Amino acid sequence: MIETLCRVCKSKGYFSGLLFKCTNCTAVHWDKRKVKKTFSKLKKDSEEFKKLKQQILTEAKVPKSQGNYCYKIRLRKQKKYNLENDFYIGRTGLHPYERYLNHLLGKYASKHAKNYATAMIEFEGPMKFEASKSREFEWGMEEEAKGFKVIGPKENEQMNIQSNKTSKISELQESK
Ligand SMILES: [Zn+2]
Repeated sequence: MIETLCRVCKSKGYFSGLLFKCTNCTAVHWDKRKVKKTFSKLKKDSEEFKKLKQQILTEAKVPKSQGNYCYKIRLRKQKKYNLENDFYIGRTGLHPYERYLNHLLGKYASKHAKNYATAMIEFEGPMKFEASKSREFEWGMEEEAKGFKVIGPKENEQMNIQSNKTSKISELQESK
């Protein structure tokens, strides 16, 4: 069955390749099952992997990055594991839809965004790198002030440091 309703506002939308776009709100989501299936046999960062990723981005009509962005991803709560976060907020030099795809593919991804992302609710940008750094932090604070639980920049950095010491630098290079 083809899912045609937005996961956030329940309005109708359409698939652009493997990317669902809502016609009513700014939410999008990748067809995670198909994305995983497509990449399951490929070695991460092999030439074939990169080529296929580019093809998926093209088919989904993901625009080229125009600078830096901040984005908000909705997370599925995992009561069993005591993970009660509502959102993941991040920044990137890629177009946010590409960053979201990278999250699903496990590239510079926190386990939260990789495993529990259900939709990218919205993004802001393009903006300058420094602006995105401060906005990422502010946005997290704003959502927390509204009563949401956020995996914010600080936790991201801690996680990145734990999992991959070079991830920050890699991401800067990736954004070129
Ligand atoms: Zn919607």
